[in-house]
Amino acid sequence: MSLSYNHNEISKIEGHLNGPLFQNALKNLEEAAALIDCDKNVLERLKKPRKCVTVSVPVRMDDYSVKVFTGYRVQYNATLGPYKGGIRYHQNVDLPEVVGLAALMTFKNSVLGLPLGGAKGGVCVDPNLLSRTEKQNLTRRYTSEIGSFIGPTKDIPAPDVGTDPQTMAWMMDTYSQEYGGFSQAGVVTGKPVEIGGSLGRNHATGLGVIFVTEKAFEHCHIPFNGARIVIQGFGNVGSFAALFAHQRGAKIIAVSDVNGGIHNGDGFNIPELLEYVKTHKTVKDFPKSQPISNEALLELDCEALLPCALEGQIDLHNAEKIKAKVIVEGANGPISNPATKVLTKRGIFIAPDVVANGGGVIVSYFEWVQDIMSFFWDESEIDNRLKTIITKAFDNVVKFKLEKNCDMRSAAMAVSVKRLEKAMLLRGLYPR
Ligand code: NAD
Repeated sequence: MSLSYNHNEISKIEGHLNGPLFQNALKNLEEAAALIDCDKNVLERLKKPRKCVTVSVPVRMDDYSVKVFTGYRVQYNATLGPYKGGIRYHQNVDLPEVVGLAALMTFKNSVLGLPLGGAKGGVCVDPNLLSRTEKQNLTRRYTSEIGSFIGPTKDIPAPDVGTDPQTMAWMMDTYSQEYGGFSQAGVVTGKPVEIGGSLGRNHATGLGVIFVTEKAFEHCHIPFNGARIVIQGFGNVGSFAALFAHQRGAKIIAVSDVNGGIHNGDGFNIPELLEYVKTHKTVKDFPKSQPISNEALLELDCEALLPCALEGQIDLHNAEKIKAKVIVEGANGPISNPATKVLTKRGIFIAPDVVANGGGVIVSYFEWVQDIMSFFWDESEIDNRLKTIITKAFDNVVKFKLEKNCDMRSAAMAVSVKRLEKAMLLRGLYPR
């Protein structure tokens, strides 16, 4: 008897493709495909993840009970090289979210010109509720469960929300013990420097954001020196972006974190603010500043707005109120697709996330290369190579935007899809 499915059954089977993040990525993909007249068979293949792995992760808790968590690894596309993408520990992680994030990694790695495919993984867990031992137990068992799918030449995880260099150290050690018993540093990136991590990884995304801001200003004829910059989010990305912009002569007039924002029209002394945050754990109540809400901060008059916190910050409800001349997306997905159209129409220049926050994966790529060679570069070499790659990606996207007269997000996606299309057509379809 042959199997046949009606449409509803297929939707049920493909429920993992129904997440909002993935559906948004598909919308961007289809728009980009139309712009480049993409081969329809390639487009068909690009709309689906190659492999989705779901695993149960039993963990011995400190009270000796066992809790079973659910983990995922989605390998989206490996046309350009081994799969690459982070591991997220968060209570909202589910398969549809991981599929969406894996698709985004595919398009990001392609537009950046890296020889890497796209993947993502995660475990549905609130890491703040785990002790250090429980987190280590969870990481080692999760690594063991996905062990046969990852590897230094196959699929290379990295940190993401809720995971850090220590998590990567445990992953690397577990994989090394299970597969040969020797050190396999290249299986993950974002490791501590002492075990094969790269110099410059910690500040890479913030520095990349500022290289892209410099290019965006150049494009819009705005001098960097004295430019007023507003930054939402003062974590890894936002705080390093603030420091590098300050060092280059910009005035950081407002910053915020989850507790609220601060404003000073004359610009903050960023090294002093960083010291303040070290002790107070927030930017709130920094001396010589006025409080400002996160909503009002986004609407300040400035040369550049750098959203470096969360997704979905600028939508149709506030797109008309934004006064920045340039927006550089440090965070993933801070501006919705419809808001992008409104802002672009209003003449606001957007540097899209896939390029603007690519510094992290670029230096992860350098870490992987250094691990394979067992030969390590100094920090200035890494920063310079990062600048070369990220500015080239930016230039490619601007060139496409000018040729097709489209918005920067569509241009970035089109450049990305075009590279994937060429490679997929060259490789062909196996068996045929
Ligand atoms: P982080 O956790 O270090 O910092 C996040 C910051 O945002 C914190 O200051 C937090 O207080 C603030 N924040 C949280 N909720 C907020 C709210 N409602 N309003 C204002 N601020 C709020 O995270 P991160 O690593 O800096 O990542 C920030 C963004 O950049 C995320 O979207 C992440 O996916 C993206 N990103 C990070 C990297 C990287 O290498 N760290 C690379 C690419 C993309």
